[in-house]
Amino acid sequence: MKSDRDYPVAIIGGGASGTILAAQLARRGIRSVLVEGGGRVARGAAYSTTEPAHLLNVRAEGMSAFAGEPDHFARRFEAEGGERRGFAERRLFGRYLGEILEEAVSGGAAEVLAASATSASRNGRWSVQLDNGETLTSDALVLAIGNQEPEPLRVFAGVGGRIVGNPWGDEARAAVRDLAETGATALLIGTGLTMIDVVLSLDAAGHTGKIVAVSRRGQIPRSHADFEPAPVERQQLPVGNLRQLWRWLRRRSAEVGWRAAVDSLRPHSQALWQSLDDAQQRRFLRHARPWWDVHRHRIAPQVASTVARLIAEGRLEVMAGRIVSARQAADGLDVDIRRRGAASAGTYHCAYAFNCTGPLHAMSHTRDALLRSLLDAGALRPDRLDIGLAVDDRSRAVGGERLWALGPLTKGRYWEIVAVPDIREQAAEVAEDIARELKA
Ligand SMILES: Cc1cc2nc3c(=O)[nH]c(=O)nc-3n(C[C@H](O)[C@H](O)[C@H](O)COP(=O)(O)OP(=O)(O)OC[C@H]3O[C@@H](n4cnc5c(N)ncnc54)[C@H](O)[C@@H]3O)c2cc1C
Repeated sequence: MKSDRDYPVAIIGGGASGTILAAQLARRGIRSVLVEGGGRVARGAAYSTTEPAHLLNVRAEGMSAFAGEPDHFARRFEAEGGERRGFAERRLFGRYLGEILEEAVSGGAAEVLAASATSASRNGRWSVQLDNGETLTSDALVLAIGNQEPEPLRVFAGVGGRIVGNPWGDEARAAVRDLAETGATALLIGTGLTMIDVVLSLDAAGHTGKIVAVSRRGQIPRSHADFEPAPVERQQLPVGNLRQLWRWLRRRSAEVGWRAAVDSLRPHSQALWQSLDDAQQRRFLRHARPWWDVHRHRIAPQVASTVARLIAEGRLEVMAGRIVSARQAADGLDVDIRRRGAASAGTYHCAYAFNCTGPLHAMSHTRDALLRSLLDAGALRPDRLDIGLAVDDRSRAVGGERLWALGPLTKGRYWEIVAVPDIREQAAEVAEDIARELKA
């Protein structure tokens, strides 16, 4: 079964993961089509920002798109006047990904299709339905659709348009503009990297009002700083026991500093994650993840100093607490927040509330049409934690045939698979696996 649009490989999702894979396939002489439905070709969610204040949270020397070519992005950044140990603007990294893709396209090994895939099925080969009415066919199918939008917060149900569900969408940009004009208060729910992005956007837009950021623990991402690395061998680490691993991390942090201790786990993090049983992985997500995330995914020092300045000026308040209820009020929302340790809630008025809680949610309940079609047909299964898709050790979907998943979709299996240094390794391995499979 062939359509007018027929390819050896169809990659759904044209963000960083899909782009890097298309480039890896091109290097192996394998033609692919990159299907991007959000108008963010080669940039995806992270690198389509146009905000100069949004910096990478990994040093330029760590951001090469190609495994085994560590200087590939650093050289590009240096040519623009940056330093290899510096933090580039995310939009520059987006341009870099664009150039990589362009190389594959101009060499005839990749094609870009601006459309959303709405369903896929396999009958000997893959057949993918697009929202423009076309169908494409392929031998292999790769899902690189990234994170899904955060789930709506139940406590804000029915409060109207002042709750911003997607912090990077048009709605968010309009809210930032309005807040900058009025100087009104913004409430950010979640205190991780997404919250930092919104704070930077507000500051860059000239907002001078108050920003309140709230999460259960009120932990915010820590800053990068130079440190002496203290690498460890796998044999030195407690395997298969979260409690012991946590104790090891504390002890090691006291000895060599927390940055060196946390980063020493990097080469082992996927193996450590896989050594934990389901109950321990769940315990990690519930209790340890907030601490891990803020120490592991650090922000550029320039960004940290902006955040520190806003806190010192009293413009940003970070609070540990829980949102109890919310209702519409004149010019915004009244939100009841119970601070951690407080006996009762206090009411905060804000013009807008932004959902910065991030994407971790139940895959089995996804409303994404493409995933739904594949899950319902049994070609995909949620992973055991239900935070992504079940894949094997080659990132092949469990239940599917010639079907791979890349990036955040596979975090149930790998956990540390959202940053470019991890995604590029996975993309190289998947490209190799596809090459083997298609030649077989
Ligand atoms: C704000 C932010 C900042 C980050 N900063 C860094 C950093 O500094 N350094 C680092 O290493 N990592 C960073 N990351 C992490 C990492 O790089 C991203 O998670 C990575 O971009 C994931 O890429 P992706 O292509 O898998 O997903 P995405 O970037 O989400 O791309 C998926 C693409 O698929 C498209 N799509 C979805 N469904 C369909 C469909 N049905 N049909 C067609 N297209 C579809 C979407 O429009 C989207 O463009 C950051 C992440 C975020 C969110």
